[in-house]
Amino acid sequence: MFARAKKKRGATATRRPAARARRSFTAPGAARWVLIGLGICFIAGMWLHSPEEPAAPTSDIATADTPPIAPATGATDDELWLVTAPAAPPAAPQEPPPAARPWQEQVVRKGDNLSLIFQRAGFGKGDVYSVVSESADGNTLARIYPGQVVGFQADDEGQLLAVRYVKSPLETIYYRRGEQGFDSEIETREPEVRESWATGEITSSLFMAGQEAGLSQNLIMELANIFGGVIDFVQDPRQGDTIHLVYEELYLDGEKYGDGNIVAASFTNQGKTYNAFRYVDTNGDVNYYNEEGVSMRKAFLLAPVDFTRISSNFNLKRLHPIYKTTRPHRGTDYAAPTGTPVYAAGDGRVIKAGYTRANGNYVFIQHGSRYVTRYLHLNKRKVKQGQKVVQSQVIGTVGSTGAATGPHLHYEFLMDGVHRDPRKIHKQLPKAKTLAPSEMVAFRQAINSSAMQLAALRTDSHLALHNQGENKSSAN
Ligand SMILES: [Zn+2]
Repeated sequence: MFARAKKKRGATATRRPAARARRSFTAPGAARWVLIGLGICFIAGMWLHSPEEPAAPTSDIATADTPPIAPATGATDDELWLVTAPAAPPAAPQEPPPAARPWQEQVVRKGDNLSLIFQRAGFGKGDVYSVVSESADGNTLARIYPGQVVGFQADDEGQLLAVRYVKSPLETIYYRRGEQGFDSEIETREPEVRESWATGEITSSLFMAGQEAGLSQNLIMELANIFGGVIDFVQDPRQGDTIHLVYEELYLDGEKYGDGNIVAASFTNQGKTYNAFRYVDTNGDVNYYNEEGVSMRKAFLLAPVDFTRISSNFNLKRLHPIYKTTRPHRGTDYAAPTGTPVYAAGDGRVIKAGYTRANGNYVFIQHGSRYVTRYLHLNKRKVKQGQKVVQSQVIGTVGSTGAATGPHLHYEFLMDGVHRDPRKIHKQLPKAKTLAPSEMVAFRQAINSSAMQLAALRTDSHLALHNQGENKSSAN
């Protein structure tokens, strides 16, 4: 019943060069001198304990960032003498380039802090302090999570040269020791975008169909948002309805990293097909439009509830008597688990939010001058009287407060003070935004290939179902 495949068209592999943002701070004077002092003590100590190689450590000592005399470090005269004594030429460092040095990696554990991680890697509190305080992005290191990886690079003497923090697969921060203390550099990666498609048939709910078609929860939510103005996903779907979509998958190093945008989608509900195409207009605004350039975003959501949480869409009429209220029934009931988010059906202002014994927790919203929507039996109210709300904003959660015998949202839609079924008064509702005529040429061009893909998907799945039927009948 479900088919899914990848890369119908040749996948386009594009990898942009890593974007870099270099930042650097000048080390606070005092801290820097302390460090230099520590460095000198360290080097001096090494030298004292390596009498067999008296002439060896010249270049390491006389690197450019080590001044010949460090004032106010607390170092003894002897130590200073040891450092300054060899008339070492200011030779260029002869270490291999940092890139060639191995990284020692530490995985962040539960209950870890930076000092512990540095300690495991063999570095001290002074190193932690330097990296955090000297680099522009040092504070980011204070917000590490268990499971993340921190890498360390040291020179031959074990001095910390660099730290790298893999913040996410798309973002790594490098902290490198420079002349002015530690610099930080953020390296970001662009995932490779591959086009994918999915097709499914509804047997119980959009959510189930999406899951069976292999779609992530985010993609199903997005699909629901795109069609939320034209389909009531709780009441409208019927067995045999189909969804088709073309979407992006994001890959890193050949492995799937996540989902990108839905490029185009179609929903065939009770024989009527709705198409939606993603389009970035000349202002840079992203919206979904039907093939005529009419925005999919309508003035009102048809079902102002997160229906991806509703497991079955087909039993509402049968369930309805269970949720009798004491008032004459003039709305729509959406049975859903307690806590399911309830959305503002459209932009507007909260004209009432409170509690009565009949309504339980309730919210009333005024939209323009003609429309009011009402939401009853809420478990929690998330808005206050007088507050402005935008479409799809969470205004409360489903509950069973007031005269309700089970958790459900009782939703009412009023036009000019009269209860109406918003699905039956399409023509009287405010018109959705339409693309300007000047955009239409670009729009048609932009959606051309995805429109053909959608059409092919619908034909393919129709043929597949048809063939399945033939095979079955011939087998009999
Ligand atoms: Zn009701």
